[in-house]
Amino acid sequence: MDSPCSAELHAAARPQPATGYSFSAASGPLPAEVRAAVAEACMPPNGGRSILSLPFTSDAYRRLQDETEACLRRLLDIPDEFRVLFLQGGATLQFAMLPLNLLGGARLAAYVDTGHWSRRAIEEAGRYADPDIVARAVGHIPHEHDWQLDPRAAYCHITTNETADGLQFDRLPAIPVPLVADMSSDLLTRPLDFTRLALGYAATQKTIGVPGLTVLILRADLLGRAHPATPRAMNYTAQAEAASRVNTPPVFPVLVAHRMLHWIERQGGVAAMAAAVERRSAAVYAVLDDSGGFYRNTIARAHRSRVNPCFHLADQGLTERFLDAAQRAGLHDLRGHPRTGGIRVSLYNGVEDEAVAALAGFMREFARTQG
Ligand SMILES: *Cc1c(COP(=O)(O)O)cnc(C)c1O
Repeated sequence: MDSPCSAELHAAARPQPATGYSFSAASGPLPAEVRAAVAEACMPPNGGRSILSLPFTSDAYRRLQDETEACLRRLLDIPDEFRVLFLQGGATLQFAMLPLNLLGGARLAAYVDTGHWSRRAIEEAGRYADPDIVARAVGHIPHEHDWQLDPRAAYCHITTNETADGLQFDRLPAIPVPLVADMSSDLLTRPLDFTRLALGYAATQKTIGVPGLTVLILRADLLGRAHPATPRAMNYTAQAEAASRVNTPPVFPVLVAHRMLHWIERQGGVAAMAAAVERRSAAVYAVLDDSGGFYRNTIARAHRSRVNPCFHLADQGLTERFLDAAQRAGLHDLRGHPRTGGIRVSLYNGVEDEAVAALAGFMREFARTQG
C-alpha cells in the first residue's frame, strides 16, 4: 500500500521538466543517470544483493568505499599525504569536531567571518575553543594580507562558499597556519590547491549526493591531536585508523556518492563541473546586471558565488509575486535564506543548463512586465 508521501516521491522522481526545475540550496538534484544507477543498486536485477541491506563488514562494501575514495582522489588530485574520511552528522557536526580534533591542548583558533555558515561554525567552536575572528566580509572578502592572523592559532577556518549569502572565495588564501575549509556547497565545483589546504570537509547532499555522509580530506600530520574526551566515532585519528569504520558507516549515501563521482568523471571531471557552474552563474548574473537595477546584487564581482547567486528585487514588495510566478512557471525553491531574504539560485553539479535557461528567460520576462 502507498504511504502518504509516496505520491510526492513519485512526482519528484518523474523526469524533468514535467514537474519543473528545482534550484534548492538545501539539496542538489541528482542527474537522471545517477538516479537510475541508485535505483538499480536498491533493486538489483537477477535478485542480487540490495545496497539497502549490504553489511558494512562485507568485501562488497569495502570495495565500494575504496572505489569511492579512489574516484574522489582522481577527481581532486588529492596528494598521498592526505587522508579521506567518510563521516556522519553533516557539516554542522564538524563545527564541533574541528576544535575537538585539532586544538591539541591549545585554545586559540582563527575564523574568517564571511556570513551565515561561518558564524554557525564560530558559535559552535566557542564551546571548545577561543575563536578569534581575523577578518570579516562585507560584500567582499578581505585579502589575507589584511587578516589579523595570530600565527599561534591551531588552525584558520574559512567557508569557501557562503551558501546563504552568495559570497565565495575566488581562490584559497595562502596563510601561515593550517587552513581548514567548509566546502559543503562548492566541493567538486572547481579544482583544489592542496599546497594551501590542510583540511577540507563537505556534507554531500549539495554537490555529491544525498544527506547522511560528510567527506573530510585532511593532511595526515593533523592526526593525533584530539582532545581525550572526543567521542571515538568523532575522532579523526580513530576513524583514519579504522578506514572510517569505527562504527557502521552510512552505506547508502556512500553508494550515491560513488555513482555521482563516477558520473562527474564521465562528464570530464572537476574541470567540466567548473566550466558548467561558471557558465550557469554567468547566465544568472547577466540577467541581474542587464536589469537596469530591477534585480540587485551587492557582492563584489570577484566574490560573487558561482554556486548560489543571491539577489533582491529593488522593489522588495515584488518578491512574493516573483516567487509565485516562478513556481507557476515550474521554477521551484528560489526563496532566499530566511536570514537574508530575497531570491537564491543554487547551481549544484546536478542542475542542468536547460533549467538555467528557463530561469533566465523567466527573470527577463518578469523584469520586463513588472519593471
Ligand atoms: C548546508 C551547509 C552546512 C550545513 O550542513 P549540514 O549537513 O546540514 O550540517 C554547512 N556549511 C555550509 C557552507 C553549507 O552550505
